[in-house]
Amino acid sequence: MRDKIKKKLNELRENSLFRVMPEISEGAGKYISVEINKGFGKTEVRKYINMASNNYLGLSEIQEIKRASADAVLELGTTSGASRIVTGNYNLYDELERVTAEFKQTEASLVFNSGYAANVAVFSALADRNTAVFSDKLNHASIIDGILLSGAKHIRYRHNDIDDLAALLEKHKDEKDKIIATDTIFSMDGDVCRLRAIVELAEAYGAMTIVDEAHASGIFGRGRGYAHEAGLEKRVDIHMGTFSKAFGSFGAYVAADRDIIDYLRNKGRSFIYSTSLPPAVVAANLAALKYVKNHHDIGYRLLDAADDIRRQLQVMGFDTGDSVTQIIPVILGTNERVLMAKEFLMEKGIYVGAIRPPTVPVNTARLRMTVRLDVLDETERILDAFRTLKAAGI
Ligand SMILES: *Cc1c(COP(=O)(O)O)cnc(C)c1O
Repeated sequence: MRDKIKKKLNELRENSLFRVMPEISEGAGKYISVEINKGFGKTEVRKYINMASNNYLGLSEIQEIKRASADAVLELGTTSGASRIVTGNYNLYDELERVTAEFKQTEASLVFNSGYAANVAVFSALADRNTAVFSDKLNHASIIDGILLSGAKHIRYRHNDIDDLAALLEKHKDEKDKIIATDTIFSMDGDVCRLRAIVELAEAYGAMTIVDEAHASGIFGRGRGYAHEAGLEKRVDIHMGTFSKAFGSFGAYVAADRDIIDYLRNKGRSFIYSTSLPPAVVAANLAALKYVKNHHDIGYRLLDAADDIRRQLQVMGFDTGDSVTQIIPVILGTNERVLMAKEFLMEKGIYVGAIRPPTVPVNTARLRMTVRLDVLDETERILDAFRTLKAAGI
């Protein structure tokens, strides 16, 4: 066993796929600080504009949200103490689910400990060996893991390829239970799913639709998500989204009709067999949700700014793929080019992600830039850095 582990680790190292944590001392804020060891016990802290996190709206820094979270700790302590269905429930939790359902305009909602835990629960509870799950090839890993755990037939269709999905539905039309699953915004490309066509196919073939709004919640549809943006919210069966991205906190929700929520509360193993979220997190989620409700244009402000930045990058000659959201890939091709570009931008004080295979297809290595509402005052500096990157021939 240990030999096998050593061998696998060596393989990862040899293929430059060994993952290490970036040496970041603070990574959620507007600026990322990185402590640099200068030797002789001296360190220097460098600051970079944070264009790599999913804290799109910068809500983690909003005073009233931080205050709500701190107050909850002082009043209720640091833990929930147990699973929700044992003693880990408290009023704030019920209120969060009530407000979430109201916001999403569904009958009910259920809060999960993370987006990962939510997807694992949803798919493993709803699907079984007699279910066919049609899933976009670029769907998030947590959807894939949930499907695998369920034992369902896992039918992957080419990314955003409606003809492929239609052909696969036709081929498997005699399967009794069918689910179509899609991210609404894809995390490495910043493109959106073709939801209208998906919903129409689902209705034609009697499939249930599940959307993962992790990157759209808080932003599209006045914060409600992409299904609302597209006016299709009533035709989607299950809406999953997270509090860990634009809402600047942690945890996730599933919003749907009452039967589905009752079912997940009874059958969702990651919900039942895990200690529920602590008060600090639940209070932050609730405050962030209320904040977005009261400032429902902030998502659109972010998207407008991202449009502007994307257009300027395209004018400079960069390939931003099919991005139409706050996630902007800058596709450079080889791993070497991407790593060089990342270093170059860091020299200019800008931190972006460098995404390589196997996370993205071979020869599409890219910078993954996420636009944040609170860095817009630095837009000129960001664009200047990309201009000099282009001039340097990278
Ligand atoms: C981030 C993400 C998740 C997981 O959410 P966490 O709260 O980080 O566990 C699930 N689905 C998608 C599409 C995501 O981007």
